[in-house]
Amino acid sequence: MTLIFRKPIENIERPQMPADVVIVGGGPAGMACALRLSQLIDAHNAKNPDSQLSKENIYVLEKAREVGQHCLSGALLDPRSMRELLPGFEKEAPLDAEVTQEAVYFLTEKSKFKFPITPPPLRDHGNYVISLNRFVKWLGAKVEETGITIFTGFAGSELLFDGTRVTGVRTDDKGVDKEGHPKSNFEPGYDLQAKVVILAEGTRGSLTKQLIAKFDLAKDSNLQTYGQGIKELWEVPSGRIALGEVIYTMGWPLTTKEYGGAWIYGGKDNIVSLGFVTGLDYPDPHLDPQHVLQDFKQHPFVSKLLEGGKMIRYGAKSLPYGGWWAIPPVAGDGWMILGDSAGFLNSQRLKGIHLAIKSGMLAAETAFEALKKDDSSVATLSGFQKKVEASWIKDELWKVRNFHQGFEHGFFAGLFHAGIQQFTGGRGLHNRYPGTAGYQHMKKLAELPADGGDEAHLLGPAKGDGKLTFDKLTDLYHSGTKHEEDQPAHLVIDDTNICNTRCVKEYGSPCQTFCPANVYEMVDDAEQPNGKRISLNPSNCVHCKTCDIADPYQIITWVPPEGGGGPNYDGM
Ligand SMILES: Cc1cc2nc3c(=O)[nH]c(=O)nc-3n(C[C@H](O)[C@H](O)[C@H](O)COP(=O)(O)OP(=O)(O)OC[C@H]3O[C@@H](n4cnc5c(N)ncnc54)[C@H](O)[C@@H]3O)c2cc1C
Repeated sequence: MTLIFRKPIENIERPQMPADVVIVGGGPAGMACALRLSQLIDAHNAKNPDSQLSKENIYVLEKAREVGQHCLSGALLDPRSMRELLPGFEKEAPLDAEVTQEAVYFLTEKSKFKFPITPPPLRDHGNYVISLNRFVKWLGAKVEETGITIFTGFAGSELLFDGTRVTGVRTDDKGVDKEGHPKSNFEPGYDLQAKVVILAEGTRGSLTKQLIAKFDLAKDSNLQTYGQGIKELWEVPSGRIALGEVIYTMGWPLTTKEYGGAWIYGGKDNIVSLGFVTGLDYPDPHLDPQHVLQDFKQHPFVSKLLEGGKMIRYGAKSLPYGGWWAIPPVAGDGWMILGDSAGFLNSQRLKGIHLAIKSGMLAAETAFEALKKDDSSVATLSGFQKKVEASWIKDELWKVRNFHQGFEHGFFAGLFHAGIQQFTGGRGLHNRYPGTAGYQHMKKLAELPADGGDEAHLLGPAKGDGKLTFDKLTDLYHSGTKHEEDQPAHLVIDDTNICNTRCVKEYGSPCQTFCPANVYEMVDDAEQPNGKRISLNPSNCVHCKTCDIADPYQIITWVPPEGGGGPNYDGM
């Protein structure tokens, strides 16, 4: 059986639509950008009745059916940028609670050790526990009130170029069958011809990846590296955790060879957000991050908290860890890159929402200049790069510029480097620590102990007891994921022969374990040299992008499926 992969249909007429600004992605970065742009245009129009700027041709494209459905985070909100964007936002935004108490623990298999003081980067007093899904829905409603149009259920599938200039975005074709043929309900994607294209696609953005590759934008940056966050929402008996209580853990179930840690946040109505972020730079290809979370919940400290409760939601998403040195140039001829797509995330604090919002605001200021001057060349848009470098985004990320790289040689080396960096303004032993991509740390099976060694408990799929722990399919059911089934696979594998002949032997097909949604399966096939063939269940995909990131041969490309498909992270 041949796998057919999703790509835009060729040689057809596409509707053309002129646009001033197209923002791809309606997460915190994209919504903040749209809101700030509207504020600037309103202020300009109030002062300049004779030279009005219009908002009519400003669009936000969001691949989810509804705003916020694909947004997943912890989430603790650092309110700094929101106070700049909408002073007094606390009065009306959907905030669960202000953080009232924090604690950090180091876990061993059966015990826990509480840090006597909370390390400064993990102090969260003044931050808010939120559901990012609800928060972004609220931001989206604010954007719509301004008159800016949000196209939900439309993915940006390709960038349009004129030489080295980005001139627009093509949206996804709808109504294409599994074989790649138009169905009776076929609708070609639009070509939005835009003066300014703003990429706010979140982690490992698919258009951002095209842009970075086309212009070799990352050539002077460290390779980006990522973590994968697996999250569950639990409803627990009252009294288990205080509203606004924050707990971080490090250590077990990870060994000293992996990077990562857990969070537990107390939200409204006895809802607990808990999750585990595992660095996608682990050595054993059979490690399974969903399994890591299931192990974590079995620690007596955590199982006691959850006992008698019920898991109500599940989700997974990657997050960029590489920090300041892994950020590519963020502006060029006709384009800007924001939020997680650029890599504006403080991995030491596990926080990126406030940085995404601030980057959206700065991009809006630059786009506004471009509209006023009617010039969106690199000369104007490079103002965004300068604004970022002059802002507190740089101040915050500069202090942790070497943080993640310090852990590349294990947990204890990482603590050592983090300690020195704390006292040297983030410098540590060198101004710039090099960084390798996570997949480069993955070892071949022949280099690892056959019995899994001290990582054995993290390997392979979790079985789950159906109460405290769950197998992947049970978890996946709680993500509300749905796609149109009759469409080509949106996980594009360059060469499936590599999966069937090399990967299965060399790495034991790690796609089956790193994918948190059972998209990848090696099925029996007597005609293959190793008796196995790759098979895909794309409709399970939760859009975490892990496969695009962690595949050791780098032959998987995640492209957006037909708009509207994906998880439904309601309340997450
Ligand atoms: C497990 C986990 C826990 C986290 N915890 C915290 C925390 O507690 N506090 C904190 O501050 N940060 C946290 N973060 C990080 C934070 O969630 C991100 O930094 C933030 O969401 C980035 O915002 P964004 O707008 O750049 O991207 P996103 O929030 O990812 O939004 C991107 C949007 O773009 C849409 N999109 C993507 N591609 C396309 C396309 N081609 N066409 C159309 N639409 C598209 C997506 O559907 C999505 O709606 C966490 C992240 C994870 C994964």
